Amino acid sequence: MPSSRELDLLSRRERVLSSTYRLFYDEPVHVVRAEGVWMFDADGRRYLDAYNNVPVVGHGHPYVVDRLSRQARLLNTHTRYLTDAPLELAERLIATLPQELRHVTFTCTGSEANDLAVRIAKAATAGTGFIVTKYAYHGTTEATAALSPASGIALGPNVFGFEVAPSNPAAFGSRVRECIESMQRAAVRPAALIIDTILSSDGVISHPAGFLAEAVEAIHDAGGLFIADEVQPGFGRTGEGMWGFQRHGVIPDIVTMGKPMGNGHPIAAIVTRAEVAKEFASRTQYFNTYGGNTVSCEVGLAVLEVIEREDLIAHVREVGSYIEQKLRELAESHSALTDVRGIGLFIGVQTESPATAKRLANQMRRLGVLIGTTGPRSDTLKIRPPLIFARADADLLLQALSTALREASQRSI
Ligand code: PMP
Repeated sequence: MPSSRELDLLSRRERVLSSTYRLFYDEPVHVVRAEGVWMFDADGRRYLDAYNNVPVVGHGHPYVVDRLSRQARLLNTHTRYLTDAPLELAERLIATLPQELRHVTFTCTGSEANDLAVRIAKAATAGTGFIVTKYAYHGTTEATAALSPASGIALGPNVFGFEVAPSNPAAFGSRVRECIESMQRAAVRPAALIIDTILSSDGVISHPAGFLAEAVEAIHDAGGLFIADEVQPGFGRTGEGMWGFQRHGVIPDIVTMGKPMGNGHPIAAIVTRAEVAKEFASRTQYFNTYGGNTVSCEVGLAVLEVIEREDLIAHVREVGSYIEQKLRELAESHSALTDVRGIGLFIGVQTESPATAKRLANQMRRLGVLIGTTGPRSDTLKIRPPLIFARADADLLLQALSTALREASQRSI
């Protein structure tokens, strides 16, 4: 039962916030603070955060927060002056990417990054056609919403979508070729294929590594670009490197990144091949008031430093494969779990139905563990904790899921 304080928040929310917003869980959580992998509600109850990918180095990481506040006191300005932080951050980011990817543009959100990528792709190719997966999500601007069928919006004009079943990722390349053919039949010139390289809203499709390669070859053959949307898998989440596309042995023309980049502070970016942004830059200037501001760039640098110093990518690999293995064991004894997919600390557990996934996520919340749901039918549990998630945290998560499954099966008897 919600407390009177929660009821008050709910009614104020309804009164003053747009009805476009959605809360998580049948019993929404009123969080008042967070630290590391824990979130705390107004009564001091703690919840294990196995959902939030933004606070990648943990909620309120002291080093990140110190650097943020120190810089905020010293200077916060934009990219029209000579400042060190954006350059340092750009250099650090470029050093994590294949050498072809050389030029950075900062934005504030992943949506802005993808929106800019769309503009650049159109300018570079003189094309207008885009290819997306059928349940893709790429952002909130008009151009990126048109590439985001997962938000319940119809595909925009000249946007071609294709479905790929988690059980058949090998079909990925041929689906993209079919899209290109449809595009050509409609006399639309291809601009780009844009893919979230962990396919999160498509239900988390991660294996076999390499399945994107044929699709990238196809779009290149047709004169289009490949945009790797790294907003979800970027910054080490796969445990196999900094970026999701690296698992597929491909080199994107444009990489977009966001969410974890600022550990909760709004900073995002795109990185392009040198020749790709040329046409766009020759005709247009791009000035984003807050994109590349000094404070955000210091935060971005702090996040990168922590990822490196705490050896988080190796940590993700180890804890992620432990969770995955334990989830597989759990799935063997519970028919409600029908598939386990994912890599590193991005795991999708397919359940027998959307109702089951919803029930399990709600029950986990009651047990003090926060997870979500995803996939075309919202039938997949989304487990995507901060990267500092430890093995002991994993055990708490697995214990809670096991209890939730037991309770769910007792209820259905
Ligand atoms: N791309 C992907 C794959 C995303 O998951 C999201 C956010 N969920 C975005 C882009 C948009 O990022 P933002 O919400 O920062 O605009």
